[in-house]
Amino acid sequence: MKARILVIEDNEKNLYMQTFLLEKSGYEVFQARDGLEGLELASRIKPALIVLDIQLPVLDGHEVAHRLKKNPETRDIPIVAVTSYAMAKDRERILANGCEGYMEKPINPATFVAEIERHLPTSAPPNGDQS
Ligand code: MN
Repeated sequence: MKARILVIEDNEKNLYMQTFLLEKSGYEVFQARDGLEGLELASRIKPALIVLDIQLPVLDGHEVAHRLKKNPETRDIPIVAVTSYAMAKDRERILANGCEGYMEKPINPATFVAEIERHLPTSAPPNGDQS
């Protein structure tokens, strides 16, 4: 089984690009388009990592991260936050919520997957080979 990555992103262009890049590298990608859907999907599929947009409908990324890290079922899943805010306080809040990684939009297609893999547990290679 391939490692699962959950992408929570409401912008279709960004969602498409991130999904494309991760699938091309062999990951199984699940998509959510708002914060609540993302939370529910995270509990259900237990992804190896979550890519989390901050500006999201229903629940924003700060709240999603907070709830994921409060829940024993999901607290160990690494979160890489993606934000278009260049504001320092946003970054501080993201890290305070327990997100393991942080990147700013626009994402760089040449380095996106490598950046994600820095935070991916080593037990979760793209092909899921545990041997
Ligand atoms: Mn957004």
